[in-house]
Amino acid sequence: MVGKSIQIPRITEQLRGYVGARLELVEAGTRPARRGPARVRPATHLADLSVAARRAAVTSLGEPGYRADQLSRHYFGRLTESAEEMTELPGGVRQRLADSLLPRLLEAVRDVTCDRGMTRKTLWRAADGSFVESVLMRYPGRVTICVSSQAGCGMACPFCATGQAGLTRNLSTAEIVTQVVSGARSLARGEVAGGPGRISNVVFMGMGEPLANYPAVVAAIRRISDPVPAGLGISQRSVTVSTVGLVPAMRRLAGEGLTCRLAVSLHAPDDGLRDELVPVNRRWKVAEVLDAAWTYAASARRRVSIEYAMIRDVNDQAWRADQLAGLLAGRPAHVNLIPLNPTPGSRWTASDPAVAAEFEARLAARGIPVTVRDTRGREIDGACGQLAAAGRAL
Ligand code: SAH
Repeated sequence: MVGKSIQIPRITEQLRGYVGARLELVEAGTRPARRGPARVRPATHLADLSVAARRAAVTSLGEPGYRADQLSRHYFGRLTESAEEMTELPGGVRQRLADSLLPRLLEAVRDVTCDRGMTRKTLWRAADGSFVESVLMRYPGRVTICVSSQAGCGMACPFCATGQAGLTRNLSTAEIVTQVVSGARSLARGEVAGGPGRISNVVFMGMGEPLANYPAVVAAIRRISDPVPAGLGISQRSVTVSTVGLVPAMRRLAGEGLTCRLAVSLHAPDDGLRDELVPVNRRWKVAEVLDAAWTYAASARRRVSIEYAMIRDVNDQAWRADQLAGLLAGRPAHVNLIPLNPTPGSRWTASDPAVAAEFEARLAARGIPVTVRDTRGREIDGACGQLAAAGRAL
């Protein structure tokens, strides 16, 4: 792992744009930009394209447009990318169409499992050498896949491992979607403990800030939820997008007509502390973030999840629970308390369970729906905030 201390790390171009001059001070004396392999745009894949654009792409290759639907059914319905399996396509065109529209975007470099195989983290290498991770979590009766939307992250939250190395790049729509398709394929083939199954939930809680990669993420949500052959056919109501609170993007999302759930990583009810824990708060304050969250809740008709990592003696005081309850009373919100997962070099630890229980009880007493999140995958560094593929790949 790279991160040694929990000082606010290198601030990326992206974050500087959001946060303005104050953070430039922080940047002085931090690490130089990491030099990676030359970056190339990911190849275009059918999951990047609308149904009409797929047909146009196939036509431009001299094949009838309906072959695009056939390919799409293989990819999204049968969950296969291999030309040999596409037996209803003429032998001569199978490989050519697959090469053009189903390029391999992510190569699985390593799988690690825990919870008797019920949690599996996959490290992926993209064509340009960027690394990302996704995590599949099987529970009784449902399977959740946690996907990455960026290689790295520019939001610099000091308690999150992904934030420590900065942003490498945005993922393309298909690079996001392919994480879900690969998970669905493994489940369908019975490669995950518990027998063959299907993905029931998708959460954008892996590496990256989804709303900082807005167009690709919104297109990915549509591709994940559109019915086969347009997409994978997973209900938007089973998809959760998690954000640090990029207010203009949250407002824009509210205008998309989506019904997916929005999660807001709040972590503190007061700007003083949130400015430190979620540095983008220096640009958009708690009140603005929550206001945008309620706008989204009204448009999607969904309660917003308020994510709150319980950090010992940092944000877990009873008075902060009361302050949080005051902000959320009467609002369409559900609080998820997440015991802080340790990240290398962090001086912070999870709250004492009794303190966390008191925090939860205070919210519940004010009528705020609250749950303590079961954190999966800690021992494989696959839990919330522990994904740091770039820092320890291979
Ligand atoms: N950038 C988005 C998506 C990442 S989601 C966001 O921040 O919302 C991952 C969730 O895990 C966020 O709520 C994040 O704040 C939380 N998290 C990050 N590091 C964590 C850690 N070490 N322990 C517990 N939760 C953490």
